[in-house]
Amino acid sequence: MKELGNGRQAGSALTSLASRTRQRREGSGIEVQEEELGTVTAQRLFKMRCECGRSWFELELPRLIQCPACAKLNLVSI
Ligand SMILES: [Zn+2]
Repeated sequence: MKELGNGRQAGSALTSLASRTRQRREGSGIEVQEEELGTVTAQRLFKMRCECGRSWFELELPRLIQCPACAKLNLVSI
């Protein structure tokens, strides 16, 4: 793959990581250690807050949810 323009147009972070690795390889006669690419798991959390003052987190965004503190059934709005 070719470097686009000044390299900033290359896009995602993954692409720029790949191009950095390639640049290091071009160094003459220097042994380059490959870095192993790991994975990061991302998780979205929704912070719920009831009128009673209790707040907690949910992984999903429900339409209706019961407050764990006052036990009231609440309509969820963002
Ligand atoms: Zn509540």
